[in-house]
Amino acid sequence: MASIFTKIISGEIPSYKVAETEDYLAFLDINPNAKGHTLCIPKKDVDKIFDLDEPTYHGLMEFSRQVAIALEKAVPCNRVGMTVIGLEVPHAHVHLIPLNSMEDARFINKTKLEKEEFEEVAIKIASFL
Ligand code: AMP
Repeated sequence: MASIFTKIISGEIPSYKVAETEDYLAFLDINPNAKGHTLCIPKKDVDKIFDLDEPTYHGLMEFSRQVAIALEKAVPCNRVGMTVIGLEVPHAHVHLIPLNSMEDARFINKTKLEKEEFEEVAIKIASFL
């Protein structure tokens, strides 16, 4: 099912891109739990993550691992948390969130960032890849 992420993949809708391969894309979450909150998605249009075919699922996990390592270098934090929800956007995605406390993992307290801050952190994460 086409979703807003399909339009991000095609470039129809802009995003703060962090990493891209032939099959996967990482970009900043527009309503982040914390600065650096990144979404990793397969370009394949599948709603639920566990419905992905096995190679795409494992590829997404490896892509997310690489982005998480770069994210931890770019954004000082206790650790990078990984969450899968998918109740809002019906396109498989992994949330990578810099965590300093349990609050950062709760999807309730959001961080407001200016355009320049999004751009700066996206470039910084990408620089460690
Ligand atoms: P969920 O489907 O519940 O895992 O949440 C979807 C996530 O996608 C939320 O954290 C949104 O802030 C994020 N999101 C929705 N639209 C965009 C967008 N255009 N660019 C970046 N992130 C988005």
